[in-house]
Order: sequence, then structure tokens, then C-alpha cells
Amino acid sequence: MYAEGVAVMAGRIRDEDIALVRERTAIADVISEVVTLKSAGGGNLKGLCPFHDEKSPSFNVSPARNVFYCFGCGVGGDAIKFLMDAEHLSFVESVERLAARAGIQLRYVEDDRSTPRPRPQQGQRQRLVAAHAAAVDFYRAQLTTAGARPAREFLAGRGFDRAAAERYGCGFAPDGWDLLTKHLRQQGFTHDELVTAGLSRPARSGSLIDRFRRRLMWPIRDITGDVIGFGARKLFDDDDGPKYLNTPETPIYKKSHVLYGIDQAKREIAKQGKVVVVEGYTDVMACHLADVPTAVATCGTAFGGDHISVLRRVLFDSDERAGEIIFTFDGDAAGQKAALRAFEDDQRFVGRTFIAVSPDNMDPCELRLAKGDLAVRDLVARREPLVDFALRHMINRFDLDTVDGRVEAMRRAAPLVAKIKDREKRPEYVRKLAGDLGMEIEPVQRAVLAAAHGPQAGGAPAAPARPRPATPAVDSPRSMVEREALKLALQEPVLAGPMFDAVEVTDYQHPVHVSVRAAVAAAGGASTATGGAVWIERVRDACDDLAGQALIGELAVEPLRIDGEPDPRYVSITMARLQWSSVTGRIRDLKSKIQRVNPVSNKDEYFALFGELLSLEQHARALREQAAGGL
Ligand SMILES: [Zn+2]
Repeated sequence: MYAEGVAVMAGRIRDEDIALVRERTAIADVISEVVTLKSAGGGNLKGLCPFHDEKSPSFNVSPARNVFYCFGCGVGGDAIKFLMDAEHLSFVESVERLAARAGIQLRYVEDDRSTPRPRPQQGQRQRLVAAHAAAVDFYRAQLTTAGARPAREFLAGRGFDRAAAERYGCGFAPDGWDLLTKHLRQQGFTHDELVTAGLSRPARSGSLIDRFRRRLMWPIRDITGDVIGFGARKLFDDDDGPKYLNTPETPIYKKSHVLYGIDQAKREIAKQGKVVVVEGYTDVMACHLADVPTAVATCGTAFGGDHISVLRRVLFDSDERAGEIIFTFDGDAAGQKAALRAFEDDQRFVGRTFIAVSPDNMDPCELRLAKGDLAVRDLVARREPLVDFALRHMINRFDLDTVDGRVEAMRRAAPLVAKIKDREKRPEYVRKLAGDLGMEIEPVQRAVLAAAHGPQAGGAPAAPARPRPATPAVDSPRSMVEREALKLALQEPVLAGPMFDAVEVTDYQHPVHVSVRAAVAAAGGASTATGGAVWIERVRDACDDLAGQALIGELAVEPLRIDGEPDPRYVSITMARLQWSSVTGRIRDLKSKIQRVNPVSNKDEYFALFGELLSLEQHARALREQAAGGL
């Protein structure tokens, strides 16, 4: 889709030049731009593997041999291979990137007969990065023009002087349809390159126009410092675009990975073992200038799992060494959601996730402006563990002056404490929760234990109806397990009856299965049956669905999917698998619902849903254990 049309020459780089690139490249320097490396003894280095998810470092780099190797996933090679895998570059692009780094002029062989000569076109990534670098210069120069006055005023109004604007490469996209496009075309960038880079877009007339116009521009850099995109802020009232406009997804700009400021912050993040996640470009600038050099921000998207992966590698976050991640809130809905999502994304991160809420609902940029640098440092220093933050919000919803309110608050908060991965921390939170609720420790402890061990669906509403397939797909695992449960009820009611009847009809998904399950209930329930043809007839009579009636005949004779006689364990596993499918479906629905609720304006609803989610997840875990065969 985007790669086509971009000229990548087929020319081969001369072997001597490739050898020179290998020789002049220090592999540890290349890799440590992406992965924080520590000494592994014997002159070797280690870090968290960027190619697989791991807790303790098995990714090794040998500077002496100029190779890397991961004992976890088996990926290994030289610096060229590393860039190919880590940055998804071709071999040629990889060599070109390293050559540029080492200041080596590459020569290319067009074919075997021709003489080597410098190649006019480079690899795609290098071209797109070069186009961005030229665009940065262009926008930067525009910032000093008369038309850019609102942009300068915007920066000054937020406490950024000229030096700050220069440090972050701020610029101005001028008023005009194709000023940047023409400028870059004159510099030799092709139509396709500019479109692929996201800098220009085709107008209806077919001619190329600038993507960004009349906006304040922030260059967005990747972890190695290459500019890969822009963030653009609206300046004029008659600009009817969004407040912030970002580079679209391109071969080099992936918003789910991009963290604004990471290039400047990475060394401090690695050194301090912590990172501060803020909301916007101005917040990153304000934090860095206020001597919180570990600040980064996502660009036009919520903080997600890929961002965590990027940060964990920089933090060298492992079992031996835990990094800290601090989210700042200014009461902005997206930020709160993002932080709370850390619960779902990576449980290992929860214990190290902190929330810093500005007392006056100000973002770091506003805070610095109103109260100075110290206030920004103070905001970060006064961080609160995510668990405390979530607990506080949970119990604040209830009237703690009444017994009912306290009991309900305890019931809702207990699953949250039970969810804390670090078991040693639980007693501490039980005490804290009891204190906050004004209750004795014992009942709170019991509630947490109950939440940790027993499934507590606790008033969760039934999942909304989903579109259902027309015929039972016997090949889907869910359909298969529903079928198996129904066979048990029909063929082995004495054995399976009580466990079968305990699982609601709402846990079945397929409509025909639902009709059979309902017929079993209408026939008095499987636990009342003694089996045999009479029982089958009773269920068939109770079924008002023709497809259901036909299926009952089928299921009454189809062999069970177990060798030998079914036992209670088999029934238990089957019913747990059935419920697990249903619960995970409800969890999915709930997660998507939570996404749609504004945690600020609908705080109560938000945290109620959040509580439901936690107890459902608890339930799902218990079912998964049961389904695995533990009774
Ligand atoms: Zn690996």
C-alpha cells in the first residue's frame, strides 16, 4: 500500500563497502539506542530482548565479536541484522543507515559489467527520514517570519523562550497550499516520497499539497533521534481542523510505538529507572525544562501495550530491577483511562505504576507557568501508587457514613486488593482499606480472601446480546464445549445434573444450544432426571424449537469426547470451559464499554464498570484453573 511507487534501486552495494560498514560499526552503540544494556561480565552486555517478551534479560551483546544473541528466542547476528529485525529495514536500508552513521560513502554495483558509481537513490527509510529533516529546517525557518507570529505567541504564552523552541525544533507550517511540497520537490524528493512520508497529500485536482498548514509544528523523533513525523497544533480560529493533527501511519511512523521526547529522555529514564508519561508536546517540554528529564508523551493515541514494551526495554525493567512508570493527570479523561488500562495491559507493571494528579487540574505546562519549575518536580514527587488511586476512587463512590455504604464499598474494593500481584503487599492494603473504610481489619481480610479464591460475579449485568451465527459451527471450540455439556445433561444426567443445572442458559451462545439448554430446564432440570429414553423424550417435548428438537436426538447418541467413562472431574472441566468462554466474552464487552465511558464526567459509572471488570477477571481466572483440571 505505501511502499509502492517509492524508488528503491536494485543496485547492489559493493562487498568491500559492506565489510567497511561492519568494521566501523560498534554494535553496542547501535543496540543501546533501542535497548538499555548492562554489563553481563566478561566484556559482554545484556538487556531485555526487543524481539520477544521477557522478564529477565537473555539478550546478549558481544562488543568484541560484534554480534548479538538472544538465549530466549534464538535471534542473533550482526549490527545489520539487528537493524533489519528491530526496525524492519531491508538489508540495503540497514547498511545505508549504518554507513550514514559511520560517515561512509557507499558505492553501488548496477550489474556485474558496469563500473561502481554512487547511487542516486537511497533506501526508503533513509529517504523518508531525509525528507523529514528537510521539512524540519523549512518549518523552523518559517517560525521567524511575520506570518508565524501567532505560533511564537503561543510558545511564549506557555513559557517557552527561543532556546526552548530551538531545542525541540519547533516550527511553523505557513499559509499556502504547497509551499513545503514545492520546497521539497526542488530538493529532489519525489511525489511518491512526499505522500509516503505523510508530508504532502494529493488534492482533488491531482496536484500535491501540504498536509500541514498554518500550524505550530513539533518534530517527532524516534528513539534514535531521527525525525519520523510531526505534531501540529491549530493556531487560528478559522482553522476548522482538530486541535492537534499528527502524521498519519507511514512506513516509519507508527503511533502505537511513538513516544514524544524519548530521544532526549532515554538516557535519564535508564539512569533513574523511571519514566514520567504526560499528555502533550508542551508538557514534555515543560517537564524537561523544569528538570524532570524523564518525561515522554504519546502522540495522538492512548498509552498502550506497545508503548509499555518500548519503555520496559529502556527502563531495563526486569525481575531483578523494577522500573517505575508515573502517569500525570490533569483531569483529562484520556489520561486517566490510559493509566487505568495499565491494569489490563501488563499486570507486572501495576505494582510500579504511579499516578500524579495535579491538585488544581493543571497539566505540567500550566503548572510550570503558574507556579514554576519546583511545582512540576513536586507534582511528580507526590505520586501515588496506582492501586491506592484506584481504591480511593472506588470507595469514594459510597456513603461511608452508613453501614450499608461501608459494606458495599468493601465488597467492591476487595477484588481490587485481591488482584494485587505482589501477595506480600496485600496485608498492607487490607489494613489501609480497613482504615479508609473505618472498619475492623478482619472482615476486610475475609472479603479480600473471598475475592481472591471464589468467583464473585457480584451483580454484573448480563452481557448484551451479540449477533449469533445461524447454524452451530461444530468446529469452533466454544460450540464444541456447549455441545459436550448438553450431551452430558442428556446422556449422564445423574452424574452431570447438579453441575449442569448450576450454569445459566445465558452462558450458552449458540441459539440452538440455548433452546436445548432451556428445554432441559423446562423438563425440570437435569438433576431431577434418572436418564434413559424417557428423559430424552421429556426434553424433546419441552423444546419448542424444531432445530433444537433435531439436535436433541443427535446429542443423545453422539459419543462423549472422553475415552472411558465420564467422571465428575470431566463434568467440572467441561462446565468450567463453557463458562470461561462466556465470561471472557463478557469481559470483552465490558472493556469496550469502559472505553466509551468518560471517567471524569461519569466517574461513578466508570469505576462501577471497573469493579465489575476486576471481579469478572477474578472469576475467569478461577474458571481457567478449574478448566485446567484443578477441582
Ligand atoms: Zn529474544
